[in-house]
Formats: sequence, C-alpha cells, structure tokens
Amino acid sequence: MEEGLLIVLSGPAGSGKGTVSQLLLRSPDFAFSVSATTRAPRPGEVDGVNYHFITTADFEERIRRGELLEYTNYCGNYYGTLRREAEAILGSGRNLLLEIEVEGAANIKRLRPDAVLIMLLPPSFAVQEQRLRGRGTETEEKIRARLTRSREELDRLPIYDYIVYNRDDGAEACADDVRAIVRAERCSVRRNPDAEKKFFER
Ligand code: 5GP
Repeated sequence: MEEGLLIVLSGPAGSGKGTVSQLLLRSPDFAFSVSATTRAPRPGEVDGVNYHFITTADFEERIRRGELLEYTNYCGNYYGTLRREAEAILGSGRNLLLEIEVEGAANIKRLRPDAVLIMLLPPSFAVQEQRLRGRGTETEEKIRARLTRSREELDRLPIYDYIVYNRDDGAEACADDVRAIVRAERCSVRRNPDAEKKFFER
C-alpha cells in the first residue's frame, strides 16, 4: 500500500491551527497523531483526544525509552510526537498530520526529508495579538511569552515548503489550501521517481 504523506502544520499561537486541523480530519484521508504534553489541559480539552496529558517524570521516562519521534520544550512545557502512534498512521496509507512548533518541524525534516512543511499564518502580527487576547485561555504572561516566541518561529520560515494565510474566518479556505498542497505533492515528479518505468511496463 502507498504510504501517506507526512504533513507538518505549524503556526504561531492564535493562527487557527487547531480549527484547520479539525476541518481536515473530517476526511478519512487525514489522521492526527495525538502528542504527549506536560502542559495542563485547557477547558474542554480531552485526554487522549487533544493530547496525552502526562507528568514531567513520565515524559522524561519516555524520552529515555526512545518513544518520541521528536520533542521540544515550548514556553516551559514538554511536547512530543509518539513514534508508535505516528508510524501506525503512516503505515495505514492515510496522511499524517503533525500539528507541531518550529523546532519539532526542523527535527522531522531532518528525519524525514520527504515531509511537507506548512506554516499557517494570521494576516499580520497585529491581528495575531488581537486573536490571542480574544481567545481568553491564557494569562497575560503566557500571551506575552507566546507572542515573543512567534517572532522566533517566523525566523524559521525558510525551512517550510508552503505558507497558508488564515484570513478572517478563513479556516475552511485554509483547509482547502492544505488539501490542494497534498494533491499537488502527490503529482510531483520527485514523489514519483519510477514514473517512466511504470509507464513502459503497463
Ligand atoms: P498548545 O499549548 O497551544 O496546545 O501548543 C503549543 C505549541 O506546541 C503549538 O505550536 C503546537 O503546535 C506545539 N506542539 C503540539 N504538540 C507538539 C509535539 O508533539 N511536538 C512539538 N514539537 N510541538 C508540538
């Protein structure tokens, strides 16, 4: 069976990654690898669905056991992709969606140069700040830390393959852009190295 694509979706806090991912996941072609984190759940978040919420000791034990494909420390908490979960999805032929920050994305690209890296951006920094405050899920201190972090995140833009802008209420348009990127990638010559051979053998 053909392996699914490994898609990394990153975006600064308030870019709307969560909403765009949810839209993509309505299709059985996409599956989401539930990450592990040491951060506390936000209201409405469910263990095993949004994240596996675990303790720092448990996370560090999993690092030692090599259970994480990649991990990082983001604003004081660990976040990481569980190797077993990610591999099971890819093996099933579905596209694996990793919603991770830039350091994790850089690590994935080193491990899997065929991964498609997509950066989701609000239309501007000013709009991002507005959206983040409007969400009301973080303290002022945490909002500031996330805004500072987003400047560093944009510095890593050159390692990404695509930018998708999330304009006002544009989550569905963003999901469409991601679906279009996946279709184009599947048609790309670099992903079909044996096309000539197949053409003449059929
Ligand atoms: P949040 O606390 O807002 O859910 O996530 C904070 C940041 O961590 C986001 O940029 C999110 O994409 C990223 N993140 C979530 N899971 C992972 C993961 O498994 N690995 C990495 N490297 N980043 C993650």
